[in-house]
Amino acid sequence: MRFLRFLVPAVALAGTVAAQAPNYEIYAIKYATLKQFPLGGLVEGESRNTRLDIGMYIFLIKGGGKNILFDCGFYRPQFLRQWKPADYEIPSAAVERMGLKAADISDVIISHIHWDHADGFDLFPNAKIWIQKEEVEYYAGEAFNGKKRSAADPDDIVGIVRMNTEGRVGLVPGDAQEFLPGITAYIGGKHTYQSQFITVKTAAGNVVLASDNVYLYMNLEKHKPIAQSLDKESNLRAQDRMKDLAANPKLIVPGHDPAIMNNFPEAAPGVVKIQ
Ligand SMILES: [Zn+2]
Repeated sequence: MRFLRFLVPAVALAGTVAAQAPNYEIYAIKYATLKQFPLGGLVEGESRNTRLDIGMYIFLIKGGGKNILFDCGFYRPQFLRQWKPADYEIPSAAVERMGLKAADISDVIISHIHWDHADGFDLFPNAKIWIQKEEVEYYAGEAFNGKKRSAADPDDIVGIVRMNTEGRVGLVPGDAQEFLPGITAYIGGKHTYQSQFITVKTAAGNVVLASDNVYLYMNLEKHKPIAQSLDKESNLRAQDRMKDLAANPKLIVPGHDPAIMNNFPEAAPGVVKIQ
């Protein structure tokens, strides 16, 4: 009996936590364009001679008193020099289009360690960083073992490890983890060693923010893997799973498709409201 007296409040508490998950609003903020990117670098089997201007996005998730970013863009000079983005605005300023300052961002979820998704990790002074545990471990260690180059820029991975020493990093421990109320991380896709995508609870049901685990709508429509994957079969399985997880297929949002800006209503200049 004594045991049960403790058990009952614990169950009641778990129910309360689930009920507390807000219906979030989600916005795509376009902070740059990469011109004339080869389609064959995005969708397996397509031509490298076909080119398109791709969108560079950060996603703002608002709800429950939080301003959460999914991916945080780039700003270090080596990337600006190498990639020469058009229409570029530093992500910490791009959030001002939604009436927010960099200091208002409470959390930054990093889908994977690539420069255009992770490099802005230190632009938001009050944010907690969320990233897959194995993504950090691999790119802080084995990926550089005896090599000078990896998918991770040294500034980014070293900076995230340093932030971890300051207690500001949440290491997401694998698959199907609801690490914030109503926001669940899934692994799969193998765009990098442990890239992740998320589902976000909204009034319309779950939205999938795929990041580069799906580059373009074409990946989903033609059922073709992303052109950069460590495991193409795993990538297709992740795409299939997204179709099961999303409230409807239109609520799977790819990482770089320019059509995102046309498929949803405009909320501010260069910003659309996904839900
Ligand atoms: Zn990317």
